[in-house]
Amino acid sequence: MTAIFRKSFTQPEPIPEAGVGRATELLRSGRLHRYDPDSGEESEAAALEREFAGWQGRRFAVACASGGYALQLALRAAGLRPGEPVLLNAWTLAPVPGAVVAVGGVPVLVEIDDAWHVDLADLERRARETGARFFLLSHMRGHIADMDRVSDLCRQLGLVLIEDCAHTLGAWWRDVRSGNFGAVGCFSTQSYKHLNSGEGGLLATDDPDIAARAILLSGSYMFWDRHGARPDAEVFERWKPATPNMSGRMDELRAAILRAQLPGLEERIRRWNERYRVLEQGLAGAPGLRTVLRRPEERFVGSSIQFHADGMPLAAIPRFVDACGERGVRLAWFGCPQPEGFTSRWPHWRYCARGQSAKRTEAVLATTLDMRIPLAFDLDDCRLIATILAEEAARFVRGGGRATLPHPAV
Ligand SMILES: *Cc1c(COP(=O)(O)O)cnc(C)c1O
Repeated sequence: MTAIFRKSFTQPEPIPEAGVGRATELLRSGRLHRYDPDSGEESEAAALEREFAGWQGRRFAVACASGGYALQLALRAAGLRPGEPVLLNAWTLAPVPGAVVAVGGVPVLVEIDDAWHVDLADLERRARETGARFFLLSHMRGHIADMDRVSDLCRQLGLVLIEDCAHTLGAWWRDVRSGNFGAVGCFSTQSYKHLNSGEGGLLATDDPDIAARAILLSGSYMFWDRHGARPDAEVFERWKPATPNMSGRMDELRAAILRAQLPGLEERIRRWNERYRVLEQGLAGAPGLRTVLRRPEERFVGSSIQFHADGMPLAAIPRFVDACGERGVRLAWFGCPQPEGFTSRWPHWRYCARGQSAKRTEAVLATTLDMRIPLAFDLDDCRLIATILAEEAARFVRGGGRATLPHPAV
């Protein structure tokens, strides 16, 4: 009998009761805007900024409308000028090149390697070719490059590093949190990330000028002093007159439900990684599929898993994806010719793809499959999913034989 998996791959966890309670109070009060001119109390948004900055270990934080907006703020606040090139890894999600374009930058794509990390030789080459001052690094699907080497290279090339930590909130490289390597770290609190406010974003930095500019840009009117993790007033004096108000704040409701989730995040990370390891182990025995070993320095958050289907003919991959789908296991294929759902790759971004080349990335993505790991799944669910993947892969594998065990990361 062929087993079918019946749980949803898009089911988020409920919001903790404390958050539901606080959100209900706010709704009853009608006071949903973060700056209430008559209130002497700290707003939910300001408290979230304070608590998040403390959690992340950065001096300043700004709560805003989305992760993509946080990236825009970061680039503008770091001083990007219109028409300037911005380096970014060619495998990322569409809001990343979108943020660069929104602030008048020009995305310059950098290759990735087989383990989905940015290719540092290509980064150096393209930085020198373009004279770019900014590197917007997405830790895409939670894969963290060797941050010691990334940091050294940025220093050497004079690159301002902005980290897109949409998939690495709570992750570390050695003993430094993801997001604390560069000038700014940006986070998303969209429902499929590690904290869920529907939509939302957070920015964290230690740089007082970047923080002041980001707060003013975010649309703080003249309530910048109501922010929860902000620099001193004199820093705002430097930037106030010259900084436009580009509204993109976070509201009280979202801040309240995020505050209720922050204390439970470490436990959620533990549960994600437990599920990830079960899936990884299950996939190690799957013919035709290859996971990539994660380096011990990378303390990642396993909220999704990626693997290469390079033990089957390329033409078989979409059929394999469909076959898994019929048994309830939902995979995204990054080699898909058309953008689908959240899944697109750089040639689909016509507004910036022209004239760019990232052939190695294309080859890597051609065999890249991606699966979400909702916390609503238990460990037996993960075992069943791995079994289904292995059984279906066996039907498509090249030569019909058993494939080898995973190769080590490059
Ligand atoms: C989700 C995501 C973002 C931000 O997305 P928003 O929907 O704007 O919050 C940025 N980068 C990556 C890689 C993402 O997955």
